[in-house]
Amino acid sequence: MHRPRLFWRIYGSYLLVVVLCTGAVGIFAAHSAHSFYYSRTERDLLAQAQLVRADVAARYGTQTPQKLQEFVTRLGQASGTRITVIAAHQPGVTPGKVLADSDVADVSTMMNHLTQGAYRPEVHAAYNGGTGFAIRPSETLHEEMMYLALPLREGGGIALVVRVAVPVASINDALGSLYVRITGSALLAAALAAVLGLFMSRRISGQVRDVKDGAERIAAGDFAYELPLPRTLEFAALAEGLNRMAAELSGQIGTLTRERNEREAVLTSMVEGVIAVDSDERVIAVNEAAARLLEVDPVAAEGKSIQEVIRNPDLQHVVAAAVKGHQPVEADITIRVGSEDRSLQANGTLLRRSAAGGAAGAVVVLNDVTRLKRLEAVRRDFVANVSHELKTPVTSIKGFAETLDDGAIDDPDAAHRFVRIIAGQADRLNAIIGDLLALSSLEQTQDGRGLSREEADVKGVITAAVEVCDAKAQAKHIAVEFICEESVLAPVNPPLLEQALINLIDNAVKYSPEGGSVDVRLAKQGGELVLSVKDDGPGIPREHLPRIFERFYRVDKARSRDLGGTGLGLAIVKHIAQAHGGSVTVESVVGRGSVFRIHLPLS
Ligand code: ADP
Repeated sequence: MHRPRLFWRIYGSYLLVVVLCTGAVGIFAAHSAHSFYYSRTERDLLAQAQLVRADVAARYGTQTPQKLQEFVTRLGQASGTRITVIAAHQPGVTPGKVLADSDVADVSTMMNHLTQGAYRPEVHAAYNGGTGFAIRPSETLHEEMMYLALPLREGGGIALVVRVAVPVASINDALGSLYVRITGSALLAAALAAVLGLFMSRRISGQVRDVKDGAERIAAGDFAYELPLPRTLEFAALAEGLNRMAAELSGQIGTLTRERNEREAVLTSMVEGVIAVDSDERVIAVNEAAARLLEVDPVAAEGKSIQEVIRNPDLQHVVAAAVKGHQPVEADITIRVGSEDRSLQANGTLLRRSAAGGAAGAVVVLNDVTRLKRLEAVRRDFVANVSHELKTPVTSIKGFAETLDDGAIDDPDAAHRFVRIIAGQADRLNAIIGDLLALSSLEQTQDGRGLSREEADVKGVITAAVEVCDAKAQAKHIAVEFICEESVLAPVNPPLLEQALINLIDNAVKYSPEGGSVDVRLAKQGGELVLSVKDDGPGIPREHLPRIFERFYRVDKARSRDLGGTGLGLAIVKHIAQAHGGSVTVESVVGRGSVFRIHLPLS
């Protein structure tokens, strides 16, 4: 819609008022001048007619028509008026006959002024005793005239009618020049008013424009801008109001921004994933943790429906239930991200507009419990494995004890064999329990109690371990070789490190065939100490290598058991290495042998 500008609104109406006022004043002035001129001329005519009548009356009855004509002509020329003397009631003369006329030389040619054909209303009025007045065209002179006629009474009756006349053109000429002056003055006044109005309108609209420009700057967010105060009171009040509003807005926006930043900072630094949706299940916000968990782009997700953003029906269900329901929703869900499954605990609650306000959507908090679940599974497996491992020797012991009880005790050979088996199984139980206790105390160390370490000679620790295994090695004709020239000092826990090395050397001896060789080395590599145990035994198939350090994991269960293994040896080695802040690695080729290395950081 086209809207006129304020300037034209003000100036347009101002011009209209000026034109109307000057027009009205001009018309009124012209009209007044017109009436004034006509009435003054009428008054002048009356005075002249009275004078002429007095003169004619003084000469009445004494003058010939000739003399009367001369007298009237002279008087007419002197006064600049037309003077006519018309007969009324005179003996021997027809009423209405013109006796003398200042502007007509031969009055006999003139028609009777009271007859039907040449009816003169002013003459008729005077003939009847009144004052006759008329403005009409003269049939004799063929121009518009103003007439005034008076009766002249003689001897009780109206003897003559004396009429004076002036041409209307002379009045109109005078009026014309007056009209020109009135119009000129009106136009001048209007022009002055228009110029003044232009200036005033510009000033007012300029002030409004300044306020408007300032308001636009504030609306565009420039709250620091302060509107200059216009001179007009109301506009100044308006500008002041806008300035106050800008300051108020600036303060409120500052508070809102600060609050939003704080909220965002809280959301961003939360470990839990947070997803907020509106009542149409469109995403309002996704914090960084949630974006990481669900692998979504938080900015791109905003405004989209939750179904579009997260393609997991379980999570969608939680969101929908939280939006609709009035009870908090809790669910364990599994989502597939890339190639791995993640276990999440989702808690959905209604999102309220304010503390006591209506529902505005829902908030879902996600906890990544993948690690916890995995640990739980590991513990479950561990308990099952422990039970299983313990059950075998216990069942065996029980079986042989029952056999003895059933009578075998009376057969000394069998009894001895059974008792040895029972003792062997008890040793096995003892070994398992011993290893489990060792593992458990190592786990506690890792849980944060810290390992007590001392600056010890690692060479001595290895030598002690080799010595422990020596008897077993000699029994299998296996040469255990340890080459190390200088002693190396490192912060270690000597008994634990010795235990780890015993486990490794023991395995190497255990699984190597008779006459094999085991090589133990100590070396500094980069910033770490590497303790390696190498054998030329059967080696470990590649597929088992990743799990070899798990508790109770064995490549060949029966063989391990026959050799008195518990399946915990390597798990203990791994924990000891980790307790020292290091790690353990294995390299193995089937048929060629294996190398186990303990890496310990030196610093
Ligand atoms: P175990 O008590 O059965 O020896 P470990 O944890 O010490 O348990 O070892 C786990 C498994 O790793 C063993 O059962 C065995 O199959 C394999 N293993 C360990 N050391 C060697 C080695 N030096 N050569 C071949 N296999 C080995």
